[in-house]
Amino acid sequence: MHHYSITNAPNSPTLPLIVRVKNVFSVLLGLREIGLHFIREDPNGAIEFDRNIFGYCSINGKAIFIHRDVHLHQQIRTVLHELKHCSQIAMGQQYSVSEATRERDANLFELEYSPPCDPQAIERWLARIERTLVEVVRENYERRIFGN
Ligand SMILES: [Zn+2]
Repeated sequence: MHHYSITNAPNSPTLPLIVRVKNVFSVLLGLREIGLHFIREDPNGAIEFDRNIFGYCSINGKAIFIHRDVHLHQQIRTVLHELKHCSQIAMGQQYSVSEATRERDANLFELEYSPPCDPQAIERWLARIERTLVEVVRENYERRIFGN
């Protein structure tokens, strides 16, 4: 068994970037406020998994837990992966879709957006996704206001 416990958030500049990724992808997935917590490996920890994990999401799909002591790139991939699980839970898919399929879809979601490795490249990647989101909101707004 692998044991983990809740721990404090990583230091700047990592934390603000992870929070921003979490917020942007929550909007993209149509999720309301999702809690963000960090875990660390801890032999005495009460959180138990049968394998090594980079993160997990709460049963109610309203919070994600990310391994604090892995590379930023992996943390961001894990945020995407776990948020996808949150959206599956929001849609009730834990009852209607097999675990294997949900896992595959979360992996595909990670791959679809494939965050880069370098922190500055991550900034640019995120800014591009934010612009796309704003554009979609603007188009929907204008369609409703002006019709077409
Ligand atoms: Zn998963």
